[in-house]
Amino acid sequence: MKLTYRFKNDEQKLDIKKVEYVNPKEIIVYPKADDEVYVSDGEEVYINQLLKESKNGIKTYATVSGTASVKKGIIRISNDNSDSTIVSEDTVDDISKLKKEEVINICQELGIEYENKLLVEKLQNKNKVIIVNGMDIEPYQFNNNYMLEDRLECILEVTEVISNLFNLNAYLILNKYDENNIEEVRKVISKYPNIIFKTVDDVFPFTTNPCIAKKYFKEYKYNELLFFDTFALNKLYTALKDGLPVSERYVTVCLNGTDNISVVKCRYGTSLASILSEAVNIDLTNRDIYLNNYMRGVKCDDVKALIVNDNVKTIFILEHDDVKASKCIKCGKCVEICPVNINPLDKKLDPACIRCGLCNNVCPANINLLNKGK
Ligand code: SF4
Ligand code: SF4
Repeated sequence: MKLTYRFKNDEQKLDIKKVEYVNPKEIIVYPKADDEVYVSDGEEVYINQLLKESKNGIKTYATVSGTASVKKGIIRISNDNSDSTIVSEDTVDDISKLKKEEVINICQELGIEYENKLLVEKLQNKNKVIIVNGMDIEPYQFNNNYMLEDRLECILEVTEVISNLFNLNAYLILNKYDENNIEEVRKVISKYPNIIFKTVDDVFPFTTNPCIAKKYFKEYKYNELLFFDTFALNKLYTALKDGLPVSERYVTVCLNGTDNISVVKCRYGTSLASILSEAVNIDLTNRDIYLNNYMRGVKCDDVKALIVNDNVKTIFILEHDDVKASKCIKCGKCVEICPVNINPLDKKLDPACIRCGLCNNVCPANINLLNKGK
């Protein structure tokens, strides 16, 4: 799949591979101290079996079947590759027949999470609009592209249902260069009369939700806009239709900047180290790993301890960077590129800074402007 990606003054055509890695050796779950744990050491578990529940009702399920080990508070399920699963009896033929209360009950019962909150809490806010953001909000992430490619009709169907039941105007937003998905959406969108389809410029940092809100939804207050990505809607669809949680998500892996980009389909709870070694086969010696956005300088020291969850979107693997920052040469590039027109060189970072990292990216002296004064 070829996609064009744009920074402010730059345009790149990128080739993106799809990799399946849905049979990890094990999955890991880290319960918090006050979580209720429902699995014991040595127990045989099934996919979709409830493993733990947090105080606020978020539930975590097994995403592989196998034997559980519960040691020092950490749950590990070693994958027996049998894919034995718990099947729900709450399947629904037509989700458009569900009532609002039923939707709320199903989501509450399953304890589905979105961005560390119960998804149902988002639905009960005073929203006026539901926006399906089919773009990714960080540079060089392509997870939403693939999710949409795989589950387009499910995502549109559930958006239409939510729009009807919760009385929301609905929009689907796609990157104008995402030609494959645009073509597919155009073929089917007339079946979903509530959904307005928009294609927009994909220029980082424009793709963040607040920037989209400012540019395209000026007539609404920000808290009236319900932004969902395709992963949240896939979870919602699967809950309503099959009565089940979702066990897989996509993670983008970028090697040496943009030389080699893959989107890996993997199970929640898979360690990032195993994704890197088995799915993309990379020797990590002398490499630096960054999570989600390499420009903001958040380096990840132990990929073994990190697992796939909704907050893991992209893994950047870069050659170990020995380059030391030198003195500012006053070229002004950082000031020129800043999308919110502040001066990144000011001693303290202005509160208007959206931490996009573009100033770091352009600086020829390798100064980490975001960490200035820390
Ligand atoms: S100062 Fe903040 S908003 Fe401006 S380019 Fe740097 S990180 Fe982005
Ligand atoms: S881009 Fe770097 S070298 Fe140029 S003015 Fe900004 S801090 Fe100084």
